[in-house]
This record gives sequence, structure tokens and C-alpha cells, in this order.
Amino acid sequence: ESQLNPNYNFENFLEGDSNRLARNAGLAVANKPGGTSFNPLLIFGGVGLGKTHLSHAIGIDIKDKYPEKTVLYISAEKFTQQYIDSVKKNNRNDFIHFYQIIDVLIIDDVQFLSGKTGTQDVFFHIFNHLHQNGKQVILTSDKAPVDMQDIEQRLLSRFKWGLSAELQSPDFETRVSILKNKLYRDGVEMPDDIIEYVAKHIKTNVRELEGAIISLIAQSSFNKKEITISLAKEIVEKFVKNTKREVSIDYIQKVVSDYFQMDVDTLQSKTRKRHIVQARQLAMFFAKKYTKASLASIGSQIGKRDHATVLHACKTVDNLSSTDKQFRKYVEDIAKKLAL
Ligand code: ADP
Ligand code: MG
Repeated sequence: ESQLNPNYNFENFLEGDSNRLARNAGLAVANKPGGTSFNPLLIFGGVGLGKTHLSHAIGIDIKDKYPEKTVLYISAEKFTQQYIDSVKKNNRNDFIHFYQIIDVLIIDDVQFLSGKTGTQDVFFHIFNHLHQNGKQVILTSDKAPVDMQDIEQRLLSRFKWGLSAELQSPDFETRVSILKNKLYRDGVEMPDDIIEYVAKHIKTNVRELEGAIISLIAQSSFNKKEITISLAKEIVEKFVKNTKREVSIDYIQKVVSDYFQMDVDTLQSKTRKRHIVQARQLAMFFAKKYTKASLASIGSQIGKRDHATVLHACKTVDNLSSTDKQFRKYVEDIAKKLAL
């Protein structure tokens, strides 16, 4: 039981600039599992950009080419649960042994392991065993290794051994081909201008893109309405509204500096005056919390600092808000002002 979804194959994973590197790396791994330098292959990117799909595609392709190999797909969450159960039932060694004899191990959403030191520890040992024996490991994550938090250093360094390939938001052309392919597979016809309308307005998440088309088809058949641009508009608007607006780092800096009655230049300045440093750290903390930007990108936008400074800022804010009442009030007040 490899837990692979047959629809999540390479053929259905349409290629574009946004995914070419990751897709090709996946194909290379599928041709020679354990035999390339892409070990582990780590696929990272935002929600709904195809991490799960691509990781299945690699597993399916390996199963096709090497039927004798054991391929296992599992989410990091389920892996964690299994590990916890094995400890409770006193068969931790069986758990480890089960994973050590797999040829291709695919673990989805490894960011879930953040802070779970027991599971990280056992995974570290399984990983080493597989790697030393030339077995293939494929991981997905919502962040690049440099941006992962609360993952042990030794595990992070393993994550960086192979190749980290990013899935980005697909461009317009790719979004159109993804929709056309989906409609074709579902045997549904739809005018090009409608497909393009949807692809033009839903940009950041392939799952939502598909969701909009599905609800368009459902609406039209349910209400026996023809699929028109105006129906497409209605549905796209609902989708765009439901997608939580992301605050920008600029906006966060503005809100934080207003709160402390300073201007943004002061917040970004090199000064070490305590209240300014704290304001800057709060801006970094909220940027980490409310945006998808990487630590490096937050640092460069908030006074040209590096990613370590941002990480330090986030930890300082965490610490201070649990030890300092006044500081906790700052955090709460600003969070309210930023509330969407
Ligand atoms: P993630 O795991 O990154 O959140 P998924 O793998 O679940 O994303 O993908 C979300 C949906 O988008 C799935 O239905 C998947 O088939 C589809 N999808 C994502 N990227 C592509 C692509 N390049 N071609 C075709 N479908 C895609
Ligand atoms: Mg996924």
C-alpha cells in the first residue's frame, strides 16, 4: 500500500516556468531513485501549488519503472502520529525498522515536524539509514530549509544535502493549460474566454483555480444556467473575497511605527535605542506571522537586516511577551490594529 493517488501523475502535472526545476528534478529522481545527487529532493512552496501532487507523481513513476521497489508516501502528520503510537505501544523499534526497509520514502509537509523533537530524532535516524543505503528520500515543505523554524540543526543540514526546488505561483499561460487539462479530463467543454477570465483573476493557488472552475460547472448545471462571463465573474468574486487578504510588510511597518509615534525611517534606522529596536523587532515578528515572506526577505525590507536578525527578533518578541506585561500589551494592541 503505497498511498499514491493515480491522478496525481506527471502527465497531469503541467509544466511551466514556475515549476520546471522541481518537475525536472522529480523526473530525474524517478529515473534513478537514490542514484542522483538530489537526495533528499525537497520540494517547497506555498499552499495549493502542487507539492503533494508532484511528490505523488515521482512515486507513481518510480513504481512504474521499478515495480520491485517499495515506495511509501506519508504526511509528516501521520508519520508523527504513528511514531507517538509506537512509543505508547512500546514498539518504537518496529516502527523504525518498518521505515528503514523502504526504498523510496516520501514525507509530505515536513514543516509539521517543527518543535516535535522526538519525531525529529527518530526521523533523523531513519533518514541516515536510508541515505547511507542509497535509498531515495523525497520531502515537501511550505518553506525553504533556511526559513524553517524549530527543526533541529542536524536535521536541517540533512535537508540541505540534496536539492531544494521551489514551486512558485504559475504564470497565466500555465494556469490556462492547467484548467484546460482538468476540463478535458472531466469531459467538460467551456469557452476559452471563460477559462481565461478565471485564469486571469485567480493567480496564487492552483487548488483555488480548480475550485473556481468546479463551482462554475456546478452552478451552471444546478441552476441550468449557461456558463457565461457574468456567471464566471460572480464566482471568481466569491473566491477572491474568501481568500484572506495578506497584509504587506510595508503596511505592518506603517502600523507599528504609527503605534509608537515614530516614522518608518526611524523604525528602519541603525540606531540601538531600545524603544526603536523593539519597534523594529515587533515589525519583523508580525511580518513573519502575517506574511509568507521569507526571513531573508523580511530582513531586507525592514532596514536591510539579514535573516538571522529577523529570527532573533521573532524569538525576542516571543520571550518578552511572556515575561514583560507592558510588552505583551504592545503585541496585543498591534495585532488588533493589523486584524483584517
Ligand atoms: P500543495 O500540496 O502544494 O498544497 P497540491 O499538490 O495539493 O498542493 O495541489 C493542489 C491542486 O492543484 C491539486 O488538485 C493539483 O492536482 C493541482 N495542481 C497543482 N499544480 C499543478 C500543475 N502544475 N498541473 C496540474 N495541476 C496542478
Ligand atoms: Mg499538500
